[in-house]
Amino acid sequence: MATIAQIAVPGSTKTISVPTGLFINNQFVPSLDSKETIECINPATEEPICSVVAGSAKDIDAAVAAARTAFTTTWGKNVSGFERSRLLNKLADLVERDAQELAELETLNNGKPLKIARDFDVGDSVACIRYYAGWADKIVGQSIDIDNKTKVAFTKHDPIGVCGQIIPWNYPIMMWAWKVAPALACGCTIVMKPSEFTPLTALKLSELIVEAGFPPGVVNTVPSFGSVGGAALSSHLDVDKVAFTGSTATGRRIMEAAAKSNLKKVTLELGGKSPQLIFESADLDQAANWVALGFLYNTGQDCTAGSRVYVQESISDKFLQILIEKAKALTIGNGLDEKTGGGPVVSKVQYDKIWSYIEAGKQEGATCVLGGEKRSGKGYFVDATIFTDIRPEMKIVREEIFGPVLSVGKFKTEEEAIQLANNTTYGLGAGLHSNDAGQCMRVSSALEAGTVWINQYNLLYNNVPFGGKKQSGIGRELGSYALDEYTSVKAIQWNYGEKLD
Ligand code: NAD
Repeated sequence: MATIAQIAVPGSTKTISVPTGLFINNQFVPSLDSKETIECINPATEEPICSVVAGSAKDIDAAVAAARTAFTTTWGKNVSGFERSRLLNKLADLVERDAQELAELETLNNGKPLKIARDFDVGDSVACIRYYAGWADKIVGQSIDIDNKTKVAFTKHDPIGVCGQIIPWNYPIMMWAWKVAPALACGCTIVMKPSEFTPLTALKLSELIVEAGFPPGVVNTVPSFGSVGGAALSSHLDVDKVAFTGSTATGRRIMEAAAKSNLKKVTLELGGKSPQLIFESADLDQAANWVALGFLYNTGQDCTAGSRVYVQESISDKFLQILIEKAKALTIGNGLDEKTGGGPVVSKVQYDKIWSYIEAGKQEGATCVLGGEKRSGKGYFVDATIFTDIRPEMKIVREEIFGPVLSVGKFKTEEEAIQLANNTTYGLGAGLHSNDAGQCMRVSSALEAGTVWINQYNLLYNNVPFGGKKQSGIGRELGSYALDEYTSVKAIQWNYGEKLD
């Protein structure tokens, strides 16, 4: 199989070259033993883009060995924070230089609108890499007095070691940056397994790892199927930590594999069924803007998608009318078209899953007040769909759909609103819209979620921690909190005076 694919960008004369092998020790190589390939599909046209090598468990072994050698020789404790910072800044510059091309590739493989891919996904990833470049030389421990005369203790924050990083398809570049940047800043080495649905940008970014000057083995990329490469990484005896973003079901498997192998550290960013509460004092027009963004951004394929909305009864009819108009205004189409506000969903699997939920909503008696009809023609397009007349036990209210589907319910009192919002096994995000300051404080404290947005929704910043409660995850990404997840604290106790009799 060719090691470079030339991918044509529709509507232009341009082609993008993408390495299609496994990236190990700064080289693109074939699999040691697998003949399997991953077929990459453009979800807007259902046409094939190219195929890449699907790594095997043996390839994961080779990548882990490369990462281990780098950790103990050129990286880990052998590289200064200044140097890690310099290389990360160089990487950020290169990603910024190639923003247009990376975004085009992201749009072709994932479907999202090109403008969003370039200005948000790539733009935010550059900022994330620079943010952690800033931390690389500021990772420090504590000096702890014991008795002021004979003994002192101090702590060192050592890099945790070789990290397996398993990422999903909904933000392929951004999830790459969120994982790679803090790990490298802390001095860890990496075996990255991108999603089998969207491996192309991780491979393209691997070229930039070489160009930035990272030593061989510091970052390795093994596209592979989850049950093969993902499973091999999570059960590997020489991997010190697995950082995972994906579904709760897979997160559970990864924890189990970690427990049964070497008890490696595990961080999980999982699914959600995030609620938004609209109180009668809210600015309804603004609240409707945030709710529309909350369930439609990235065509609803968002772990924090605000997919349940509860509206105070006195304003519910008025709010719904405004919301429907806002949701209708979003143009869903081919991501390469400048007018497109939302792309197709990523794959046939995801498309079928979303439609099975829409059918379940209808069958269980919810009222579909917007969308809910399939389009004809090619492409995995799903239009904005809103259900009302919902009940807590319905599938569309309980389960993560990961598509542009919203359930809208009502409440009378603040207590009822909180009870409805928290009635879920998930705890990733939550939003509330109110102009009553006391209510904002009370409700934000009561909501069981890793992030609560007040009078806004879904905004993320590289310096603000992100993660879930309940079955939405373990650990935090972003901010200084992510550094704790990639370091291991060592206490050194020093006796400089006490003698034992
Ligand atoms: P998924 O769990 O199917 O796959 C995610 C990754 O895990 C992929 O790389 C996949 O190959 C790998 N994988 C699959 N089976 C595995 C196994 N047995 N062992 C190890 N790895 C395995 O999820 P998805 O469908 O790619 O992504 C959608 C899900 O991700 C949604 O549930 C969404 O909520 C969640 N998500 C969460 C966050 C967050 O930050 N909390 C962010 C994005 C997506």
